[in-house]
Amino acid sequence: MQYDLLIKDGFLVNGSGLPGYHGDLGVADGKIVAMGKVDGPAREVIDARGLVVAPGFIDVHTHYDAQLFWDPWATPSCWHGFTSVFMTNCGFGLAPCREQDREYITRMLVKVEAMPLESLKAGVPWNWESYGEYLNALDRRLGVNVMALAPHSTIRYHAMGEEARKRHATPEEINAMQSIVADCMEAGAFGFSSSYGPVHFDGDGLPVPSRFAAQDEVVALARTLKDFHRGTVCVIPPGIPKIGSADMDYLARLSRESGRPVVWNLLSQTWDAPDHWRQVLDWTAEAFREGARVHPLALCERFDLTFSLRGAVFEDLPAWRAAIKGSRMQKIANLSDSEIRAAMQRDLDDPTPKVFSKRMQDVFVSAVCRDEHQSLVDKNLVEIGKEQGKTPLEAMLDLAIDENLDTQFLIRGFQNGDEEAVRSLTTNPHVLTGGSDGGAHIAFLCQVTYSTFLLSHWVREKNALTLEQAVRKLSFDPAMLLGVPNRGLLKEGFAADLTIFDLDKVQAKNREFVRDFPGGASRLVARADGYRYTIVNGQVLLRENEPTGVYPGRVLRSYEQ
Ligand SMILES: [Zn+2]
Repeated sequence: MQYDLLIKDGFLVNGSGLPGYHGDLGVADGKIVAMGKVDGPAREVIDARGLVVAPGFIDVHTHYDAQLFWDPWATPSCWHGFTSVFMTNCGFGLAPCREQDREYITRMLVKVEAMPLESLKAGVPWNWESYGEYLNALDRRLGVNVMALAPHSTIRYHAMGEEARKRHATPEEINAMQSIVADCMEAGAFGFSSSYGPVHFDGDGLPVPSRFAAQDEVVALARTLKDFHRGTVCVIPPGIPKIGSADMDYLARLSRESGRPVVWNLLSQTWDAPDHWRQVLDWTAEAFREGARVHPLALCERFDLTFSLRGAVFEDLPAWRAAIKGSRMQKIANLSDSEIRAAMQRDLDDPTPKVFSKRMQDVFVSAVCRDEHQSLVDKNLVEIGKEQGKTPLEAMLDLAIDENLDTQFLIRGFQNGDEEAVRSLTTNPHVLTGGSDGGAHIAFLCQVTYSTFLLSHWVREKNALTLEQAVRKLSFDPAMLLGVPNRGLLKEGFAADLTIFDLDKVQAKNREFVRDFPGGASRLVARADGYRYTIVNGQVLLRENEPTGVYPGRVLRSYEQ
């Protein structure tokens, strides 16, 4: 047999969790056609001695919906072994969208997923109206494979117009939305996404459309998937779901009534309820026994958050939200006002659990603009406050104002600060590992490193999982759970999506700012060492993590067999 690609002498880890073995792998016509001992003529031979050959990873929660138009590789995901990205999460997408609604949808994405306005304006071609037309527009030049969801907020705005951000839907409007979700499924969507996320606001500072939906509406839309016998329901519940609360019932109901798996994000360890995650996992196991497939999505690493006071932060702290608003001048005026400061302090003293733990000892100065402040870098606000005889809040605001609000702060362990909790989450079989949010929040967040961290930290350094278990978490589990046909395993007949890496060397590099987006926007990215070949549909997309100039990716459709 003539192979397009022959990978020799690798350590084949097939994604099922079964033990890896030394062998070869032959590829023809974009598919894996032979495994084990493989000889024969080949157009290209890859020497994989000392390297792991694994199914390409699937990044399960991303927002590359716009970025893929100017970055068909979906960086930084592709630098971390990912060959497919699952996008249109949280209910936000670019279709269906009429011409007159483009501005609203664009401003919503700018606000809610912190995508740069200048890049969306310069980079999104907007040559579609329906969801199917959008998928086709995207399918013209792709490096990686893409799977998309039907986005609730976008659909709600399409069906209800301005009323979408005012009130509950009528039965007729719910019917209209159900038929749009069905259209999306017919076009190949992999399910439905929605959000009650308390920090999800649109471009006008109003809650996003999906937050105006009654739970019955979300359940009704999820039920649309039932007749298709495919698709996953991906949601953000209201707040952090508490055991025994209506939120947990809601998640179980979504799965039971749709007959489909539910993925909700994000389960993390937080300091205001440090053992809550454990109760959620117990609840999850019980829900499964009773027929509700409800998977928490969890990151496998500590989650640090970088922010400045130039942009919105801690939107669920009312005084903070009110103060950090308007022009830079206006913000500085607000943050200098002693009454406003007192109100912000009251937000911090309020024991009600919020997204930010309010532990000021975890907030560090990460970058300053003025030389005289250099000594503050890597100190936390409690330390700095003590040195300066101020409260931590005063120390933070004085420093930021002194630097025209450009000071960068970092919350260490914003979530997942407890390593043992993260280990349990990472090794739990009900938990879907992921939550990179790739393509979103790019000015201050980069969690795309999770695959690399799983391999370097949890497999190589901590032995918390075997290599085989970790690869399964990144390939077969997401493919199975999200219904990705013929991917996620090394298996004859399956698509040749492969990542070939050196387990001894695989390591995320430090996060860095790059200015490579349309319109000149800058973003936070992290590259990685150790990935040698990234192969999509049988073609080498990246060699040593550099593009080879081919575009083998495509929009996958959930109806494919
Ligand atoms: Zn998201």
